[in-house]
Amino acid sequence: MRENNILQILRESRYTVVLSGAGLMAESGYPLLRDGAESYEIEDKYGYSYEEIFSSGFYAARKELFFRFYKEVILKAVDIPPGKGFHMLKKLQDCGLVDSVITRRIAGLEERAGCRNVVNMKGTVFDNVCPACGKHYPVEYIRESKNVPLCEKCLVALRPQVCLFGEMIDNGIMTKAAGEVEKADALLVLGASLNTPLCSQLLQYYTGTDLILVTGSEHYTDQRADFVVYGRCDEFLERLADECGK
Ligand SMILES: [Zn+2]
Repeated sequence: MRENNILQILRESRYTVVLSGAGLMAESGYPLLRDGAESYEIEDKYGYSYEEIFSSGFYAARKELFFRFYKEVILKAVDIPPGKGFHMLKKLQDCGLVDSVITRRIAGLEERAGCRNVVNMKGTVFDNVCPACGKHYPVEYIRESKNVPLCEKCLVALRPQVCLFGEMIDNGIMTKAAGEVEKADALLVLGASLNTPLCSQLLQYYTGTDLILVTGSEHYTDQRADFVVYGRCDEFLERLADECGK
């Protein structure tokens, strides 16, 4: 599949949605906490796996260790800025080739790169709320807090507005994401196999004709896509952005 054909498809598509996966994030230098080498380090250092610590049960019962891990691992990773892929995605949006972006990642990389109409299915670390009074706090407040971050008014532990392991995606957000995918003629999956939660939750709503998958590694579910490009997502997006600028 030649990429100028994909460019043509995107030009003809009335509505194009991007599903932004872990692969695109990894290309920005983000650690893969669940599957990468970091997963062993986490278990070594904290005595629990990433999925165990970053869960609703752990937040409820072990707030001190939860927030230590949250600040040392999750928020430290968030310091990494969005890489080329996200800036190219914004460029494609500026060219009118991408209408919306959906992700399950919580680092807000798409918005930090300037993308619009982003659905953060699992929320982002940038919004934090007091469960008692509903006051919102920025991520800096969490970073600068000692031990467990508390609401200044209620002295109740704050809650990052992200979906933890063991929790369901918020209904309203799920409806919004499904609605975007339903509208799409073309669906561009970046850095995620079609069997990942991002795709398996959303593909059931897709009725368009051009499912384009860009992925670094082969998977047997790739054949469900209409077009598959193997390689780095950021380089693929850069080639498209160069072409659409001409
Ligand atoms: Zn409060």
